[in-house]
Amino acid sequence: MKQVIFNVGGALSVYSEFSGKKLLVDIGKSKDYNPITDFLLPLYERQRYTKSTTDSSKYYIDQLLISHPHNDHISAISDFRDAFFPELLTCPNDNDGMDDNHKVNWDLFDENPNIDILKEMLVGRQPPLRATHDQNEFIYYLPAKDVDGSDELSGESYCNNISIAVFLLINHQRIFMPGDIQKMGMKELIDRNYYLKNKLAGGVDFLITPHHGLKSSFSTVLFDNMRNKKTNRLNIVSEKSSGDDDNRTVDTRYSSSDYCLGNNNLSTRDSQCNQVKTSRGHILIDYSTYGRPKLEIISDKEILLEKFMQI
Ligand SMILES: [Zn+2]
Repeated sequence: MKQVIFNVGGALSVYSEFSGKKLLVDIGKSKDYNPITDFLLPLYERQRYTKSTTDSSKYYIDQLLISHPHNDHISAISDFRDAFFPELLTCPNDNDGMDDNHKVNWDLFDENPNIDILKEMLVGRQPPLRATHDQNEFIYYLPAKDVDGSDELSGESYCNNISIAVFLLINHQRIFMPGDIQKMGMKELIDRNYYLKNKLAGGVDFLITPHHGLKSSFSTVLFDNMRNKKTNRLNIVSEKSSGDDDNRTVDTRYSSSDYCLGNNNLSTRDSQCNQVKTSRGHILIDYSTYGRPKLEIISDKEILLEKFMQI
């Protein structure tokens, strides 16, 4: 049971293996690192993972989940498509079988060849939007039509607020990955989902901070709903480089002990660690240990692969 949150600059990509499932959430790449060609493909080749029965030239993976089709979450999609066939391909409005309420308004996204690839991959796939493991993975999202129809939610950002949020339970650890959902979107998502509320109340160990940790998505409502009103172990930020707008900078509250207990193995008695940025390196989490999961920050891509395979 293990997970890597890749250092892909201001993009996002998280790969997890747990309870016999292989799950990739988002596939952003940076100019220095491509999670598909630098990690996933060499991993599957070396481990001789199973090929897909649907397309035997490609490797089988249980699920590719795209939180939302912004380019920093799908920029490595052509590399993925060339080498992998996911049993489940999940993204907002993941296919034609969904009812109208869930259909994405693609006109609201900028034109992008990677979206075209995603759409091609979705052809012929059946609904519903679902998790690959019903005991350990839970997904929550706002129906796209509702976001479109709400001035508040669409004004904040339609494309981000349709994000699929993923809650994982891995060996008693609780991981929440809310995509790029923004402040109002998070509030609405929690208000509407009793089960999500319940999950949060049970505690969050690791938070992959919404919208790359930007100020515009810092949600006090999210923390208010968590047990202890803070994460137990770590807030993980895949930060954007700061722009002109103040809202583009990473919110410093993630590194505050008001929002995290810092109970992780990067903490020491003298210095508590509440937040880590992926720009420090790929974050490898070993959940197979008893008690506290083992965390490492690794920059070298070969070492990352080796350590991942050793777990
Ligand atoms: Zn986005």
